Amino acid sequence: MTQSARRYPAYVGIGSNLQGPARQVENAAALLAEIPGTRRIAMSSLYRSSAFGGVEQPDFVNAVAAVLTTLSAADLLAELQAIEHRQGRERNEARWGPRVIDLDLLVYSSEKIETPDLSVPHPGIGERNFVLLPLKEIAPDLVIPGLGRVASIPVNLEEPSISRIA
Ligand code: ADP
Ligand code: MG
Repeated sequence: MTQSARRYPAYVGIGSNLQGPARQVENAAALLAEIPGTRRIAMSSLYRSSAFGGVEQPDFVNAVAAVLTTLSAADLLAELQAIEHRQGRERNEARWGPRVIDLDLLVYSSEKIETPDLSVPHPGIGERNFVLLPLKEIAPDLVIPGLGRVASIPVNLEEPSISRIA
């Protein structure tokens, strides 16, 4: 019998507000399940929220997926960026601007990573309901380095409204 490689749990934030956002999110979620060495083990509902950051743009659809992967965090990020590319993401799209697909590595095992290309846990988790709500749905007991247990992270009452759509 071959020895099985170590698998790490990771959480991926998925978002879109262009070209059929719900379909884009579902498509990305399907592609996540096909990353080498990676199994998708949970998927949240889809959530709709209005954009923030001062740019007038269509509503976002967001979700969070959980995977088990043998890849390193850096290799997983590269795979996420390949999916973004496949779905037509333009790398020069403005920060906070509309995007056809955005895949963020939210959490990777219990690691804290701070490199020029990768911040893990993703710094937006505690501030963004469109990440927090789907994460609470699929992983309330997850402990995030620096933030604690997901179920005890408070939702941001100041943020624009968010609703579960599917
Ligand atoms: P944002 O998601 O913050 O709106 P982008 O999707 O345009 O921004 O990503 C810009 C850069 O963020 C990427 O090139 C990537 O190297 C970097 N990055 C840093 N940490 C992460 C992370 N945890 N997940 C995804 N990208 C990250
Ligand atoms: Mg991103």
